[in-house]
Amino acid sequence: TKEAFDRVEKLDGDVQAFLALNKEQATAKAAELDKVPFEERGPLFGLPIGVKDNIVTEGLETTCASKILEGFVPIYDATIVKKLRDAGMVTIGKLNMDEFAMGSSNENSAFKTTKNPWNTKHVPGGSSGASAAAVAAGEVPFSLGSDTGGSIRQPAAYCGVVGMKPTYGRVSRFGLVAFASSLDQIGPITRNVTDNALLLEAISGVDEMDSTSADVPVPNYAAALDGNIKGLKIAVPKEFLGEGVGEAAKQSILDALEVLKAQGATVEEVSLPHSKYALAAYYILSSSEASSNLSRFDGIRYGYRTDNAKNLLELYKNTRAEGFGDEVKRRIMLGTYSLSAGTYDAYYKKAQQVRTLIKQDYDKVFENYDVIIGPTAPTPAFEIGANVDDPLTMYANDILTIPINLAGVPAISIPCGFENGLPLGLQIIGKHFDEETLYRVAYAYE
Ligand code: GLN
Repeated sequence: TKEAFDRVEKLDGDVQAFLALNKEQATAKAAELDKVPFEERGPLFGLPIGVKDNIVTEGLETTCASKILEGFVPIYDATIVKKLRDAGMVTIGKLNMDEFAMGSSNENSAFKTTKNPWNTKHVPGGSSGASAAAVAAGEVPFSLGSDTGGSIRQPAAYCGVVGMKPTYGRVSRFGLVAFASSLDQIGPITRNVTDNALLLEAISGVDEMDSTSADVPVPNYAAALDGNIKGLKIAVPKEFLGEGVGEAAKQSILDALEVLKAQGATVEEVSLPHSKYALAAYYILSSSEASSNLSRFDGIRYGYRTDNAKNLLELYKNTRAEGFGDEVKRRIMLGTYSLSAGTYDAYYKKAQQVRTLIKQDYDKVFENYDVIIGPTAPTPAFEIGANVDDPLTMYANDILTIPINLAGVPAISIPCGFENGLPLGLQIIGKHFDEETLYRVAYAYE
């Protein structure tokens, strides 16, 4: 814990990952843990972790990197924060993000832009950009992110670390500030696959506080790390190596497949024909859910309240106008429109139907294959400022990660090469609740 705070002090002026530090409490906690006998200590005992700022932490400010939650100090812990505590981990602070997890670069934070530690002119990715950057910079060995359309995997790829988006329902969302409830999942970001497997095991499991958490036994993921992938059947969707994907990203995947083949896996090309509709369906569905979820930020219940209101309606309106950033407003408007009586059938309902088709594409491939492999993102991290005025280009960054959330299946991003000194990510996608196989393959490659 002390080392983590020392590293933060030394590096965070450049990286800008932390929004809040928990120094006093964490130091006291670490001292207390020192007294626990060795035989009672698990594999994660005493280790420091950073938590994305959309996960509520009792007594520690939680803002979702939004002005509208500035000063909001939760009175309870998210279920996973309790689980970290049960594992003997020490939460050292809260990590920057795109406001309410909407974005791919951390540039949508109301407070600061986190930098990519490999090259501070570049973004760390997003929305869990700081969760990945803090691990890549060695400020913390572990962090938690959330992934609605790629927000764990894309920053993990951009920062050269390991990020897992578990199966929908694997990890409790109680205490995760909702963006799009049918897509959101919390997951671990770490330096290597073993750490990741240990952390996922610690945070997984059914929770009576989240009715969408699944009552499926939690395996000992670390036991799957035996390096044996003989006979493993890998599918490579042609859509994932097609137009728009950079040459270096493509080549790094082809090279990785050779490494896996040499260990006894077989590789075949498949098609996920509805992939091209994923981005459109995602932005309708996630914005619709966000427009509903974010209606609770009204100036009465949480955080920021405008000074400038003559009546209740003005209080709502001005609080939201002043408190939310542009991207959040864009999505609330888009979502409200899609859910309106006159447009619901043409947009929201249609997007739900497309979502089912996408899920069926995945189900079909998984009838014959163990995993699907492709790049995590089309390119390495872009320069800060390069896409800020162009939301559609920014959205296209997530084209390879979004379909996975729509299908609800798990996927992991692991480092697999470099382009111009910036890391590239390999994405391994699996069947529902088969994170074990993802770790097995990731470990065999690593
Ligand atoms: N970048 C995507 C978006 O802006 C995904 C975000 C996420 O996974 N939270 O919605």
